[in-house]
Amino acid sequence: MTGYVPGEQPKPNTTIIKLNTNENPYPPSPDAIAALQKIHGEWLRRYPDPYANEFRQAVSEALGVPMDWIIVGNGSDDILNVIIRACAEPDRNVVYPVPTYVLYRTLTAMQPAEVVEIPYGDDYRLPIAELIAANGAVTFIASPNSPSGHIVAIDELRQLATALTGVLVIDEAYVDFAEGSALPLVQEFENVMVTRTLSKGYSLAGLRLGFGIAQPSLLSGLFKVKDSYNIDAIANAVGAAAMRDQAYKNECAAKVKASRAKLAIDLKQLGFSLWESHANFLLAQPPQRNAEQIYLALKERGILVRYFKQAGLSDKLRITVGTDEQNQWLVEALLPLV
Ligand SMILES: *Cc1c(COP(=O)(O)O)cnc(C)c1O
Repeated sequence: MTGYVPGEQPKPNTTIIKLNTNENPYPPSPDAIAALQKIHGEWLRRYPDPYANEFRQAVSEALGVPMDWIIVGNGSDDILNVIIRACAEPDRNVVYPVPTYVLYRTLTAMQPAEVVEIPYGDDYRLPIAELIAANGAVTFIASPNSPSGHIVAIDELRQLATALTGVLVIDEAYVDFAEGSALPLVQEFENVMVTRTLSKGYSLAGLRLGFGIAQPSLLSGLFKVKDSYNIDAIANAVGAAAMRDQAYKNECAAKVKASRAKLAIDLKQLGFSLWESHANFLLAQPPQRNAEQIYLALKERGILVRYFKQAGLSDKLRITVGTDEQNQWLVEALLPLV
């Protein structure tokens, strides 16, 4: 099988502007840092809480969902993996529209199931009829999607949930930068799960913490499959503190959204074509469509953006929205390249 290729991580203590893996440019909540400083050695001697109940309680209060509708993972990648391991089997496929998050393919390749990839149209309209016809054991929809940044309307997701007999997973890794969410569908449908992460909106990619929300009847099957101690004691405590500080997360997200709008204007002025983004990145097509060349030239200047050498994306760049200052450096570096 082909392994997942993560975005490049610079060596420590190098001055790189890192706009390639959609991390948040702002630090984690001060409350999360304070919780980290209060970790007791004794907590690390013992095994952690298998259900991460302190964190679940914080999610329950922040989102208004019952605690037993929440499953916690070592990053939301862990939740995606658990869902596939629990549901996929020969002749019960994993279905999703492309381009999207490449990890769905990698995780399925380890199981005795196949992926069915259904292309989005140019305008990123959801191919609903084809997705329904493929009737996967699991159907993934990332909304906002990566690398396009578009969102899928809740009515379309409702149509899918109604027609599918398998599980519909709505991957909301970037929801903190969007307006609205598909969370209400979890109430309406026993076969819908919404996944979230603390890596993007909460500036905690290094902590590895994500969660899924679904009805207990669906979660009971997933709890059988997950590693018993998939959340460590540090992530449980620090993640709970971050989740309780919604005001800080919303404030950072508002700054990122304002910077996203400014960066979009600057890139358009340089001649880039852009897709409307509801996430903390922009998909941008350079005027000469020489995306790979620009990616390499930026890298030489110490600026990392994401380049996907694959059909439909090889003439575009995915650029994480940084601070206004970082975005300005990017725009200045692009000037002689377009
Ligand atoms: C970043 C991302 C995730 C996973 O994040 P974790 O760090 O594993 O929580 C999941 N889905 C999409 C679409 C992402 O971009």
